Amino acid sequence: MAAAGGLAVVLCGCGGPSVRQQTSVDTAMGTIVSQTLYVEEADGTDREAAPESTMESACATVMEIVKELEQRELSWRIEGSEVARINGLADERDSEEGQSPGQEKGIAVSVSPPMRDILTQIWQVSEDSGGALDVTLGRLSRLWNLDGREESGDGTAFSGVPADGQIQAALDQTGYGRVGFWEDGITLPPGMQLDLGAVGKGIACDRIRAYLLSQPQITGAVVAVGGSVVTYGQKSDGSPWKVAIVHPREEGNYLGLLSLTGEQFVSTSGDYERYVMVDGVRYHHILDPATGYPACSDLCSVTVVCGSGLLADALSTACFVLGSEQGMGLAEIYGAEALLVEEDGTMHMTEGMKMIFSALE
Ligand code: AMP
Ligand code: MG
Repeated sequence: MAAAGGLAVVLCGCGGPSVRQQTSVDTAMGTIVSQTLYVEEADGTDREAAPESTMESACATVMEIVKELEQRELSWRIEGSEVARINGLADERDSEEGQSPGQEKGIAVSVSPPMRDILTQIWQVSEDSGGALDVTLGRLSRLWNLDGREESGDGTAFSGVPADGQIQAALDQTGYGRVGFWEDGITLPPGMQLDLGAVGKGIACDRIRAYLLSQPQITGAVVAVGGSVVTYGQKSDGSPWKVAIVHPREEGNYLGLLSLTGEQFVSTSGDYERYVMVDGVRYHHILDPATGYPACSDLCSVTVVCGSGLLADALSTACFVLGSEQGMGLAEIYGAEALLVEEDGTMHMTEGMKMIFSALE
């Protein structure tokens, strides 16, 4: 079982006589990328078409796709990425002009067609979740040092609990509703900073699936990018793909297994992934955009299954913030399957989730 984020890929059965199977584990996007590929044996002796070389180059390409997505498009930390460029423009103008209270200056920034598509989908989830998902909270995620990489940090998440005043000041520079969309770009208030951390791994899964579709020799695959997984194609024995859901409170244990077909995406968001305990309070990496503090719903883990990596990732974060009742409602709007777990272990499942989830005793 290869563990990655809140999910683990379970490999059962063999590749069969004419299909080779290989698993490899690497890191990208600050997380573990675990991929298992099934490749059909080619006829003849063409070395280029040998399954080993197909495997090797496919594995390398998958890693490249994830790294390029981070470096060129999504990372707010990497100079030259599209998000860093957008943030840089908003930041520059903020320090140049300052802000007059009550007067919103919009900064028009052009964005690439793929980024516009990504942002449009995210904004829809923000609207449908009443702002529970809000990728304009970049100022807040930096303040909380959610990924532990700020210079003052010691390499672990969180440098301490920020003061209320700092949180309020960062909160003042957030708000998805303050961003305008126009044909070639977006208009955002000075100082606002985007953080696409809630959807990046899901988008990586979408890109991986598009690549796998273009590779006829690859008959099946399951790839986990941290807490987001894509299943593709079939195993040669026809059995379903199995993905295990990490137990949110028992390290090394699993809540249960999902049985999946070859066109699904899974994302898990949990308060156990990155957190610190301070005076008995768990400070974790999923923020409530309404308060600026870590979300304090009745949930400790949310898993969403649907036909889009971006949506599975966006919805798992949003449902976590919303809590069990509203979270179920949001999943239903998207026809997604959801498993919501409360602190005391109580599980809430959509009807479809009940069919594909089996609890581990
Ligand atoms: P995930 O693990 O997919 O639930 O995403 C968590 C990451 O998304 C955090 O590390 C932040 O970078 C960012 N984030 C945290 N809370 C939110 C939120 N409510 N809306 C959008 N992004 C968030
Ligand atoms: Mg997410």
